[in-house]
Amino acid sequence: MKKHNFSAGPSILPQEVLNKASEAVLDYNGSGLSLIEISHRSKDFVDIMDRARALVLELLGLEGKGYQALFLQGGASTQFLMVAMNLLEKKAGYLNTGAWSEKAIKEAKVIGDIYEVASSKDANFNYIPKGFEIPSGLDYLHCTSNNTIFGTQMKSFPKTDSPLVCDMSSDIFSRQLDFSQFGLIYAGAQKNMGPAGTTLVVVREDILGKVSRTIPSILDYKKHIASDSMLNTPPVFPVYTSLLTLEWLKSVGGIAGIEQENEKKARLMYSEIDLNPLFKGFATKEDRSFMNATFTLEKESLKETFASMLKEAGISGVNGHRSVGGYRASMYNALPIESVKALVEVMSELESKA
Ligand code: PMP
Repeated sequence: MKKHNFSAGPSILPQEVLNKASEAVLDYNGSGLSLIEISHRSKDFVDIMDRARALVLELLGLEGKGYQALFLQGGASTQFLMVAMNLLEKKAGYLNTGAWSEKAIKEAKVIGDIYEVASSKDANFNYIPKGFEIPSGLDYLHCTSNNTIFGTQMKSFPKTDSPLVCDMSSDIFSRQLDFSQFGLIYAGAQKNMGPAGTTLVVVREDILGKVSRTIPSILDYKKHIASDSMLNTPPVFPVYTSLLTLEWLKSVGGIAGIEQENEKKARLMYSEIDLNPLFKGFATKEDRSFMNATFTLEKESLKETFASMLKEAGISGVNGHRSVGGYRASMYNALPIESVKALVEVMSELESKA
């Protein structure tokens, strides 16, 4: 039996994507060859890469606006460094909203001068700082749109005269935004886009080429763009599977369509957290993430009963991250609302047993 998969990442993908990806591993398009045993320079794969890059821009509404989409390697963690290498000359601003922001700051400090514009560390990152001042003249301002571990999400983005750089690893393609407000977006594939192994970078070309340092080729966005995201052998399977997921997303109404589903799932989840006296939400209400709901069980004595009920109902992946404790229900694009209903049912059944 298929489980209800609430994993924070790598995480659930649409069943039809898994089916098509599996078929392609055995025989790509009736070619008599596996997708993972053909040259990345073959027409078949070049076509996959071109379609995936174009579909990213189409879904984000960024076609014809001076942006390029790249499928790179090294995870979002490599982007912590690459962003600074390519954009940091004098000083960059960082909004610190969680463990991933902190890691981004740490890596950028290896390259240059960082100014932390605001932080929510004082409350174990259970909220998004607001109303802070942003100095002008920063090389860029970096933020994290969704804090996977703490379950907070930025509902609006700072206005700044500097390019806005955003780590969207855990909420890309989940909600409608004016994506043209960002100079650069990056996201590990393994939540809303595909399997682990590729990282999406979407960059407005005019922000590049402004730093004086020599950038090693493999870390240089301009070189990746010049070689059509094939500077070295790309991760062919994750790129193909990402293309399949993006095609699936388009078929269900694109970002506008999935946003409605994501809102329904989040509303259902949070209303149970709020109405059931056994549970308590971790994140400040106005900053709650629609992707990762974090909550605790107020009665320690019910922990084991809850765990066995979850297991019985086929619910997987709801244990919280060690820095928050409790539970985390990740409700990425591919998670059906039926899975949220199953979880909510177990939570209310626990209440009736308490
Ligand atoms: N940023 C965010 C918001 C994340 O959730 C994660 C991983 N879950 C990362 C960065 C790091 O990504 P990776 O493991 O691909 O380096």
